[in-house]
Amino acid sequence: MTVEADGREMHALVKRLYPICRSITGDGVRRTLDIVGESVPLEISEVPTGTEVLDWTVPREWNIRDAYIKDASGARVVDFAESNLHVVGYSVPVSATMTLDELREHLHTLPGQPGLIPYRTSYYAETWGFCLRENTLATLGDGPYEVLIDSTLADGHLTYGEYVVPGRVADEVLVSCHVCHPSLANDNLAGIAVATRLARRLAETAPWYTYRFLFTPGTIGAITWLARNRERVEQVKHGLVLACAGDSGVLTYKRSRQGNAEIDRVVRYVLRTSGRDHEIVDFSPYGYDERQFCSPGFNLPVGSLTRTPYAGYPEYHTSADDPDFVSPEAMADTLETCWEVTRVLERNRHYLNLSPYGEPQLGRRGLYGSLGGRSDTRQTQMAMLWVLNLSDGEHSLLDIAERSHLPFAAVADAAQALRGAGLVKEWR
Ligand code: ZN
Repeated sequence: MTVEADGREMHALVKRLYPICRSITGDGVRRTLDIVGESVPLEISEVPTGTEVLDWTVPREWNIRDAYIKDASGARVVDFAESNLHVVGYSVPVSATMTLDELREHLHTLPGQPGLIPYRTSYYAETWGFCLRENTLATLGDGPYEVLIDSTLADGHLTYGEYVVPGRVADEVLVSCHVCHPSLANDNLAGIAVATRLARRLAETAPWYTYRFLFTPGTIGAITWLARNRERVEQVKHGLVLACAGDSGVLTYKRSRQGNAEIDRVVRYVLRTSGRDHEIVDFSPYGYDERQFCSPGFNLPVGSLTRTPYAGYPEYHTSADDPDFVSPEAMADTLETCWEVTRVLERNRHYLNLSPYGEPQLGRRGLYGSLGGRSDTRQTQMAMLWVLNLSDGEHSLLDIAERSHLPFAAVADAAQALRGAGLVKEWR
C-alpha cells in the first residue's frame, strides 16, 4: 500500500469515528473499539465500576442519548445532535425549565474564540453543563428555556482494547493512544488511526519484538491497564504514546522520564536522519498517558510522539479540531516515522567481533567487493569495517550508525553479512 493510500485510509477512519460521543466509559468507547476491531482483532477488557486501580477507582459508566436547550418556540438553540461537544462530559441527567440567568452557571463558552464550541468534562465532580459558541450565547434572550440532558451515570464498566502482534521474543514494545474524547479529530482520533494502521503493518511482518497496542481512555484507562498488568510491565522494553498525530505542525518527540532510553535515542536518530523538521523536548509530568507509564514506580522507557503537542494549538479542545484540521499527509508522515522507529528498534543489537586482533581478511570470505559494481559498494565496505571495529560488546548498531554517519540499515546489513561469515556473534 502506498503512503498516499495509507493517509487516505487513516483519514477515512478519523471521519468515521468523529461523530461518536466518547467519554472515559460508555458505549461510545465500545463503538469506537468495535470499528478499530474491523482492522485489527482487539481483545476487549471490561472492568467493573468500583474496581480499585492503583490510587484510583473505576468510575460509574456514563451514557447519553440526547440533550438540548429549547426556547419558547420549541427551537433547539443548543443541540447535542448538532455536536456532542455541546454537553459537558459526564453531565448528570437534567430536565428543567430555567431562565437564562439560572442557566448561566451551567454554560461554557470561549469568549476569545466566539465561533467555537469548547470541550469540557467533569468526570469526578457531579454536575452538568452545556458548551456553546459565545456567538450563540449572545443571541439568547431571558428565557425561560426547556433544558434536557438525557444521560445515565450508573454502575457499569470501563472498557479498553488491546492488540498484540506476537514477536520472536516476549520483550514488548508498547504503543498507546487515548480513546476518550468525543468529536475531536487531532486529539485522539488521529492517534487511533495511526496506531491502527501501524498495528496492521507490523502484523504483516514477523517482528522480533512483541508489539502491544493499547486503546484506552486517558488517565484512568492507562492506570487501569497498569494496575491489572503489573507483572507484565517488566517486559515493556520500549514504548510510544501517540496523540495529536494529524495536524500540520512538525513532529515533536517528548523523551521518556529516563531521558536516554533506547527508544529516546532511536526516535532522535530517525528524526535527525529523516531530514524532517522536528522538535525533541525533555520529559515533563504532563500531557498524555506517558504521565502514567513514566510515573516513578513504573518509570517505563515510554516517550510521547505528537505533531503539535498537547494544548499547543488554538483548535485544541474546541470544535475546530475537526476532520478538516487533520490531513492524510500529516497522518501518513507520523505513521512513516513510527514505522522507521520500529525498523531501527527491530535490528538494533550489540555484536561481538570474534576476530578482533587485526582486521580479518574480508576478501578471503567473499565479503570484499562481493557486491562489486554497485554504487553502494564503498558504503557496504565502510559499514563492515565500522561494525568490526566497534563490535566490542559495548556499542550497539545504533551507536555505530551514529558514529560512522552511515545509514542504520547499511550498518545492520553489514552486521548480518559478518555474522553469516562467522566474524561476529550477537552479544545482547
Ligand atoms: Zn484532550
